[in-house]
Amino acid sequence: MSEPIPLAIGDIVELRKAHPCGGRVWRVLRVGLDVGAECLTCQRYVLVPRRRFERGIKRFIERGLTPVDGGER
Ligand SMILES: [Zn+2]
Repeated sequence: MSEPIPLAIGDIVELRKAHPCGGRVWRVLRVGLDVGAECLTCQRYVLVPRRRFERGIKRFIERGLTPVDGGER
C-alpha cells in the first residue's frame, strides 16, 4: 500500500477534499517535491507538498504523460 503514485504532468485528478470554491478536480502542472496544480473550477494555482497531494487523490480522471493500463477500479 506504500507504492508511490506515479503522478505526471497533465494528469487530471479528483481530490477527496474540495477546494474552498467547491471544486475537486485539478490539473497537475508541476511535479517535484511539491506538486503544482490548477483548480479547474476557479483556475487558481496552488503548490502542495507531494505527499499531501498524493494522499488527497480520490481518483485519476485523465492521465497526462504516463500511459495507464488496467485501471484501478
Ligand atoms: Zn478552486
